[in-house]
Amino acid sequence: MTTVRALLQESELPRREAELLLEAITGLSRVQMFTRPDADVGTEQTRQFKSFCARRASREPLAYIIGEREFWSLPLRVTPDVLIPRPDTECLVSWANEILIQLTQPACLDLGTGSGAIALAIKSECPSCEVIGVDVSAAALEVARLNSRCLELPVEWREGSWFEPVIGRRFPLIVANPPYIPDNDSHLLEGDLPAEPQHALRGGPDGLACLRALADGGQDYLLSGGWLLLEHGWDQGQAVRELLAVAGWVAIETRLDLAGRERVTGARRAHE
Ligand code: GLN
Repeated sequence: MTTVRALLQESELPRREAELLLEAITGLSRVQMFTRPDADVGTEQTRQFKSFCARRASREPLAYIIGEREFWSLPLRVTPDVLIPRPDTECLVSWANEILIQLTQPACLDLGTGSGAIALAIKSECPSCEVIGVDVSAAALEVARLNSRCLELPVEWREGSWFEPVIGRRFPLIVANPPYIPDNDSHLLEGDLPAEPQHALRGGPDGLACLRALADGGQDYLLSGGWLLLEHGWDQGQAVRELLAVAGWVAIETRLDLAGRERVTGARRAHE
């Protein structure tokens, strides 16, 4: 038997990380750990904490060790089969909600859904919306399905590459957080990124391969006046606006993320 205080002191991780790992194991909140540092931690939990700390020290992402990451206030299960949801992506969800609220028959297609973060956040805000989440990875879709069940948010999950599983359908809104990091970007070697699914991060030599494919193909799957919202890198706003303009989109506009960087560009299929 040992105490919260002793375990946190012994750990070589940054304090906040050690607290998050201990919270996941013991169920004690960080406030409880602070107010009751003498709380006992049992042998099995101590063993688990040490094993979690060792995994973290070898750079496994916190979210994969804990198996959970919060997005849009939803606790989402995450595994190495899916990208860890980022707060920046909430910018895309807010914009999607603004669009959906104005529709009498809201529907939304989320391409490259991964853990289902975007699709589930949209469904949680707009329960009457028909939401379809598509991913090329069967393993990712299993995580999305699990999240859908646990959160009781019914979304339709379909396996396939981009628009392939929805051929013949048209939506008022399509959203995507596709891979957009250039293949030779040193950012891929930093933080959690080396442990994440590379096919969800790498966007070809200029990072724009998937964004281009979505801009080129999107209009065939949208209703007249329908919206496409694309997340992209902080320095890709200009390039994305240009490729959308070339592909004939209108009302092209970029919004900033929480850090004030260009992060999501939206465009509409022209009204006929
Ligand atoms: N925003 C992520 C990052 O830069 C990348 C996500 C993506 O490629 N879709 O870490």
